[in-house]
Amino acid sequence: MHDESNEVTAPPIVITDPDADRYHTFGYISWWQQEVVRRATILVVGAGALGNEVLKNLALMGIGNLLIADFDTIEDSNLSRSVLFREGDRGRRKVDVAAQRVKELNPDVNVKAWHGNINFEMGLGVFRHVDAIIGCLDNREARLSINRASWAVNRPWVDGAIQELMGIARVFWPGQGACYECTLTDLDYQIINLRYSCPLLARENILQGKVPTTPTSASIVAAFQTQEALKLIHDMEVQPGKAVMINGLTNDVYTTEYPVKVGCMSHATLEPIVALPEATTAKTTLADLLGIAQKALGDTAVLEFDGELVTTMTCTGCGQTFPIFRKMARLYEHDAVCPNCGSRREMNLTHRISGQEDFLNRTLADVDVPPLSIIRARNGNERIYYELTGDKETFLAFT
Ligand SMILES: [Zn+2]
Ligand SMILES: [Zn+2]
Repeated sequence: MHDESNEVTAPPIVITDPDADRYHTFGYISWWQQEVVRRATILVVGAGALGNEVLKNLALMGIGNLLIADFDTIEDSNLSRSVLFREGDRGRRKVDVAAQRVKELNPDVNVKAWHGNINFEMGLGVFRHVDAIIGCLDNREARLSINRASWAVNRPWVDGAIQELMGIARVFWPGQGACYECTLTDLDYQIINLRYSCPLLARENILQGKVPTTPTSASIVAAFQTQEALKLIHDMEVQPGKAVMINGLTNDVYTTEYPVKVGCMSHATLEPIVALPEATTAKTTLADLLGIAQKALGDTAVLEFDGELVTTMTCTGCGQTFPIFRKMARLYEHDAVCPNCGSRREMNLTHRISGQEDFLNRTLADVDVPPLSIIRARNGNERIYYELTGDKETFLAFT
């Protein structure tokens, strides 16, 4: 990474007027480059206890663009650990309030709030267009989603975890040291698989463990996470695959290195990714994209989705067939109930588009593909990953 010929040309230290520049003191830090910080785009997943602290830190440092992702709303129990939330915010979306408070802290920072489920609802291309991802999560499933996305598009991410007075902060970088999935044990997989034991989600938030945390452990771990992200955007040395372990009871702080797991399922980078600047989920149809794929890979090329798409449901009682076109992972038990007769409806699924379908004129949005997705086209062993890059301008619009 480092060019030996440039080793003596450290960036000049810029000292500005303390009255006129809120970043004045950062100018005294030899390696700090406010322009690098201002140009950076960081995705923060989770706007809970850790997310609040991370966002506060990033805002104070003047990070240029913050994409804040969360699916939750504020309840009073969040107030004891969330510096950005106020009593009157009850019931509001965490992302909206967090974005508003970040703007209040530092109007220089551009923000975008995204309300949704990171596991199924965010296009993979979004990860490709950020400089780093910070995971501020309380469950393994979302961490695993970020980890696989990070590997797929080769972006670093910073994980944080807290419980009582204990904390962990760690950087994962595809191809450098262990990844998050390398650290998972059989028990971890069992906990993750709870969710998939039934085809449809039995109830929401099945995995939302209520982990006891404190504002102090949140701020300690979030501070480490933010510093690691700051180093990443400055191209400074980090220690991927190693964890900073913090025990607030004994005041032990140490690092530990995880072994790389042979055959780890996360170790897959999409190659090649082809950006389609004209393609958007709202306008591009399945027929359009399949046409592009077949032009490149031959007439027998197909499009493949990672998860199952429920195309229709057929009622076992009254026999009626209903168009659905939603990812199975986003459907709940109650979605299977027939609105006519109350019987259970059977799902008709697909994950492959070959050109024989009778719904090829549907747009990608109409078949539940999120903005800036990356879709696999395949013919035999040949693959191309197409990114719906036309969505970038609207989806990654920071204000
Ligand atoms: Zn791994
Ligand atoms: Zn029915």
